[in-house]
Amino acid sequence: MAEQKPSLMRPEAVTTGVSAPVAAPIQPSVVYAAESPSALDAQYEGRAAGHTYAREGHPNAAALAARIATMEGCAGGLVTGSGMAAVASALMGLLRAGDHVVGGDQLYGRSLRLMREELPRLGIATSLADATEAGAVAAALRPETRMILIETVSNPMLRVADLEGIAELAQARGILLAVDGTFTTPRALRAVEHGADIVIHSVTKLLSGHADATLGWVGARDAALLARMESFAVTMGLTASPFDCWLAERGLLTFELRYDRAEATAAALAERLGDLPGVGGLRYPLSADHPDRARAAALLGARGCNMVTFEVAGGRAGADAFARAAGEAGLPMAPTLGDAGSTLSHPASSSHRGLDAAARAALGIGEGTFRLSVGLEPEEALFAALAAGAEAARAAAG
Ligand SMILES: *Cc1c(COP(=O)(O)O)cnc(C)c1O
Repeated sequence: MAEQKPSLMRPEAVTTGVSAPVAAPIQPSVVYAAESPSALDAQYEGRAAGHTYAREGHPNAAALAARIATMEGCAGGLVTGSGMAAVASALMGLLRAGDHVVGGDQLYGRSLRLMREELPRLGIATSLADATEAGAVAAALRPETRMILIETVSNPMLRVADLEGIAELAQARGILLAVDGTFTTPRALRAVEHGADIVIHSVTKLLSGHADATLGWVGARDAALLARMESFAVTMGLTASPFDCWLAERGLLTFELRYDRAEATAAALAERLGDLPGVGGLRYPLSADHPDRARAAALLGARGCNMVTFEVAGGRAGADAFARAAGEAGLPMAPTLGDAGSTLSHPASSSHRGLDAAARAALGIGEGTFRLSVGLEPEEALFAALAAGAEAARAAAG
């Protein structure tokens, strides 16, 4: 009888003979056995490939990171346990006490909190500036400014950053430019081609696309920057689980199709939603009256994004009625974006609830403001749900 290997201690690789699997395998192992101390030395010193311990890296994270790096045209990248872990890896992995960082004043809510509350506590000074004006960013720079962090398209007003102007400024002053491209994805814009040193994604959103994995990715043009961020992320435990990476890799297989479909539906809805009684203030980057239309056309080409922002009548009562009726028609209010299913967000009660009404009004956000993240449903079904919501808002407004 053939001797059995102690398989729990040293699992055999799945052998498939002549049949190769077509689906990506998942490798949940927390730890990897090394052949010898010298083999381990070779791995740690970068002379041999391989893994040691899952927090430091595993095959599913490596495969996902490489896929996104290719899409972004980045030399390399790192998968993290959330988009915020990617933002933190860039800011906290690369900056030190005494440095100053300038952020866009309409960054994602938690990125703003990192800028306002956490970094100053650690001795890293921060300023916020209007990212749609390179001049405003220039005015915020200090001699000790080491990084600028912007988002390509802002939430929820869909303003488009002056990426070219800010990249020029960063380059001239020797400042690192980090770009959070979550809203635009590499399908619409590859930030390294516009001068970004660091690119950040909440993979949770469009890239993974099925609202079932919380992940981030951060890539860099320069290998030393990436190595520094990776060291920070591994030390702080910001890295990702194999299962989430595996789900995201599966999601990426359909990313381009999903993005193109969602964006086309969003563009079509942006043309029509203003016709609904009680709906106004329509925002879409490629709309004729968008304040950044020319920049959007130049930076994003034919691609707007999959987000449309609008106002419904009737203040909070109108907003409640709108959300209820749209929800009943199958369009839920849920604080995310980029899922295969369309979702509504109400910034005044969620992403921007930390601001008072006057500060929200300065950004153009009122009680009636909704942001629609368009998914894969037929345009007519979405229009019908939005029409039902608009009708209910009008009725509530009286
Ligand atoms: C959601 C989001 C993040 C944070 O990503 P998580 O995966 O939720 O941590 C960062 N930036 C932008 C623009 C986002 O939309």
